[in-house]
Amino acid sequence: FAALASTDPEIADVVLGELGRLRGGLQLIASENLTSPAVLAALGSTLSNKYAEGYPGRRYYGGCSRVDEAEDLGVLRAKALFGAEHANLQPHSGASANLAAYAAFCEPGDRVLAMDLKQGGHLTHGSKVNFSGRWFEPVAYGVRADTELIDYDQVRDLARAHEPRMIIAGATAYPRLIDFAAFRAIADEVGAILMVDAAHFIGLVAGGVIPSPVPFADVVTFSTHKVLRGPRGGMILSRADHAKAIDKAVFPFAQGGPLMHTVAAKAVALREAATPEFAGYATQVVANAAALADGLAAEGMRPVSGGTDTHLALLDLRDVAVTGGVTGTEAERRCEAAGITLNKNAVPFDPAPPAVASGIRVGSPCVTTQGMAEPAMTRIAGLIGRAVRAVPGTAAGDAEHAEVREAVRQLTAAHPAYPR
Ligand code: PLP
Repeated sequence: FAALASTDPEIADVVLGELGRLRGGLQLIASENLTSPAVLAALGSTLSNKYAEGYPGRRYYGGCSRVDEAEDLGVLRAKALFGAEHANLQPHSGASANLAAYAAFCEPGDRVLAMDLKQGGHLTHGSKVNFSGRWFEPVAYGVRADTELIDYDQVRDLARAHEPRMIIAGATAYPRLIDFAAFRAIADEVGAILMVDAAHFIGLVAGGVIPSPVPFADVVTFSTHKVLRGPRGGMILSRADHAKAIDKAVFPFAQGGPLMHTVAAKAVALREAATPEFAGYATQVVANAAALADGLAAEGMRPVSGGTDTHLALLDLRDVAVTGGVTGTEAERRCEAAGITLNKNAVPFDPAPPAVASGIRVGSPCVTTQGMAEPAMTRIAGLIGRAVRAVPGTAAGDAEHAEVREAVRQLTAAHPAYPR
């Protein structure tokens, strides 16, 4: 850091400022985590210098012997941790991994059945502003209105009616377990490829606390920086018979040279994720998300689907007793004013536009990494309730936000991010 501070004090100030932000507030964005110093060390290493187009032992550049070792280790660890026959650690992100999976199995114009964006699907599941909606023909399934759980009957009916080339299971804002066996049976019935986008929950699979999609899916894609707590990046797992198609879809189809410092950092994260400590972490992540959902329910926020089985909860704010009501956007803003970072989120069948949204999404990965447990979650839920009810710009509201900020400061001081 000394080199950065002397060469570029402005960027050094940004880096320190971000560390201060992480230490001074509560991070409840469900897709974020706090990577270990070991992962950060691999990221900030000389491996960043190396061009290594291709795969270990088959590179288009010389001098790759050491980076080959890093990628080989990472691939071995991924296969062992997830019981997969093949692993590709090169995707630059979860979205890049998804692009490669489409490229491996589909042709432009093919139909792809995936979760409705408005009900929790991701942009890469068929949004018109994304390659998936522009180059493919998306068909969307959703959740049942009564249970807010995936409507497997609808998935089957749509699969029969549209005979998609690929079916995607996995979402950005779905708090419950996904029935991979049901998806497999539907995919088999219509002869579709089953892709599981495990971006959000793969860390819970690594920790052994939720069922794995690997035995059921043709291909599993994910981001490495969410519950899994690795560097920002992506990864793909598949059966051996799809290995060639996947590898070619990542390079040379979708990407050029891999980010070898990131590949090495993914290997480090996989080693960490294979430890009993990580299994304990994953268990606590789920317990904490449940405690957060319960606590927020007590604040008048309705947990979508009644609760959570994972690291995240989705709260419908339409019943919150605040004069004039409060939207997801407004709740996000009020929490930010109180030192709590979370995001607005559409709830199923949301009457509000996505940019406004009637809900919020909260996740427990960061606060669990900081060592917080259920009692802290109950406290956090109470603080969120206070922050959301306080009206900014009024003397009483601003004072309340200042008080909550102080309570947040005390909580984060007791459980610091990146302890000194
Ligand atoms: N898939 C799902 C389900 C996601 O939630 C996300 C990101 O939040 C992605 C893919 C994209 O991942 P990335 O941001 O790593 O590209």
